[in-house]
Amino acid sequence: MIEHLYERLKAYYDEMVAIRRYLHQHPELSFQEYNTAKYIANYYKALGIPVREHVGGNGVVAKIVGAKPGKTVALRADFDALPIQDEKDVPYKSTVPGVMHACGHDGHTATLLVLAKALYEMKKALSGTIVLIHQHAEEYAPGGAISMIEDGCLEGVDVIFGTHLWATEPTGKIQYRTGPIMAAADRFEITIQGSGGHGAQPHKTKDAIVVASQLVLVLQQIVSRRVNPLQPAVVSIGSFMADNAFNVIADTAKLVGTVRTFDEAVRSEIEREIERITKGICLAADCSYQYAYTRGYPPVVNHEEETSFIVKIAKQIPEVTIVEETEPHMGGEDFAYYLQKVKGTFFFTGAKADDVTTPFPHHHPKFDFDEKAMLIAAKMLGTAALRFLTK
Ligand SMILES: [Zn+2]
Ligand SMILES: [Zn+2]
Repeated sequence: MIEHLYERLKAYYDEMVAIRRYLHQHPELSFQEYNTAKYIANYYKALGIPVREHVGGNGVVAKIVGAKPGKTVALRADFDALPIQDEKDVPYKSTVPGVMHACGHDGHTATLLVLAKALYEMKKALSGTIVLIHQHAEEYAPGGAISMIEDGCLEGVDVIFGTHLWATEPTGKIQYRTGPIMAAADRFEITIQGSGGHGAQPHKTKDAIVVASQLVLVLQQIVSRRVNPLQPAVVSIGSFMADNAFNVIADTAKLVGTVRTFDEAVRSEIEREIERITKGICLAADCSYQYAYTRGYPPVVNHEEETSFIVKIAKQIPEVTIVEETEPHMGGEDFAYYLQKVKGTFFFTGAKADDVTTPFPHHHPKFDFDEKAMLIAAKMLGTAALRFLTK
């Protein structure tokens, strides 16, 4: 059965690449992926595979019901793009200004669509059901996973598998981890309210830029001096807004940043510490502040049995040359929510071609990945589904 799947995937590889490139040329931002969702649904409709659209938003869920009863396995791929200008020089570069598939979700989608086509052709020999979850809006919290789950995408599902193509690891490598593999990803905003005025008369003002600058530096001490060094944590400020004329002292300044953690207690501690430090600095400078901390995705926590199951599968796939346990990633993923509901595991599929020495990281304007890795991802997910159903 597995051999049949591999033959089909090999035969459909060119189609997989064509789908990926089409999607790459037509990216859509999180929560606005109307045409991509339609494209996915139409692909299933053309094959005669039952499909449900508008699942929790732009989500699409297809189902392959085998000839014999059995368990239900879900496979998930996300399909949103990012607000980044594509700076690659390739024939399939984005045609949408300022929007780009810079994380490989086009590849995830192409992988799952073609895998589904191959599996559907084998449905007479299948015992059980394969649910194909095409999720919108992974890149932007609250993400699409929660609403898709609320809309029933996990109903009857016994286990879920998902993968991320990873362009900085070589093609042929599979990375797994039991327990936390990706971090909780939160967002905070601090607005400092000073008192603006003439740049020549600083003594009559309360300079919001000076206060916010101190804050940026002192916030670095949360990780270095507050959090237990054995607990991973990140506090990063990505945005510092205070745009005035050259001879004006800023009335307000706004900082926006992200916090990444794996442990709930550390997460809460950082949330409190940011406010305490802000309060202290503002008190000293006689300014006021507004603070908002928004919890994003929880950590992705892989289940033990399903992770060892995927490791065994990886070792059986001919193109997989390295199977290694990865360090946890500080990036976030709303795959976390599926794993809170059902058992499963999320792994990384290396997607850096041999001739690429310094790959551009995910979310980079020149990001690209080795398309051959899609075939490996399809074999991993397809084998996991078939083996789980025949277990
Ligand atoms: Zn991403
Ligand atoms: Zn991604």
